[in-house]
Amino acid sequence: MLNIVLFGAPGAGKGTQAAKLVEKYHLVHLSTGDMLRSEIARNTERGIIAKQLIGNGNFVPDSIVVAMIEERIKEHTSPEGFIFDGFPRTVPQAEILDSMLLEHSLSVAGMVALSVPENELVRRLLVRGKLSNRADDQNEEIIRNRISVYHEKTAPLVDYYANQGKHVSTKGTGSIEEIFLNLCTAIEKFR
Ligand code: ADP
Repeated sequence: MLNIVLFGAPGAGKGTQAAKLVEKYHLVHLSTGDMLRSEIARNTERGIIAKQLIGNGNFVPDSIVVAMIEERIKEHTSPEGFIFDGFPRTVPQAEILDSMLLEHSLSVAGMVALSVPENELVRRLLVRGKLSNRADDQNEEIIRNRISVYHEKTAPLVDYYANQGKHVSTKGTGSIEEIFLNLCTAIEKFR
């Protein structure tokens, strides 16, 4: 099985590339952001808790995101692999993911990171905010807060996976196709 963590700051293009990777490698896409937006749209208990936190650019509690991921892992009994997008977002989440996978005799093959300069991230998110009604993409202050939370809490995951020899960084700028080819080359190293 090929279990990949797709990594990058908000606006790095994880969702776009995940869709292409799913098609090529027949993976199951697990995006905690998509799952949370669906909980919000359905006005579930989880969605009600998540809504305000996301709108302010803050994280949703581990108990919620971990439960959502665990449900999906249990649901798919024999996929060719999972692509984790937006999860793990902290070192404790990465540790939880490792132990969750181990219970199913699975493991993370590797983490591929999309590297994009900060000004480009902000620019892309503001464009996305105009096209979608994502509350967290509507203003620059919230976007900058998400990027700073990313640096503080999420970026340390690079070391977590690098220490296990499971981290590859790729350039997240250029054409969608170019970035995809670089990602595929990185993923081949984990196979
Ligand atoms: P982006 O990477 O563009 O910020 P996502 O769609 O991955 O967006 O996530 C949107 C929001 O959902 C995050 O800013 C955060 O509030 C929440 N979220 C998503 N995944 C997690 C997670 N693993 N842990 C905590 N909060 C999360």
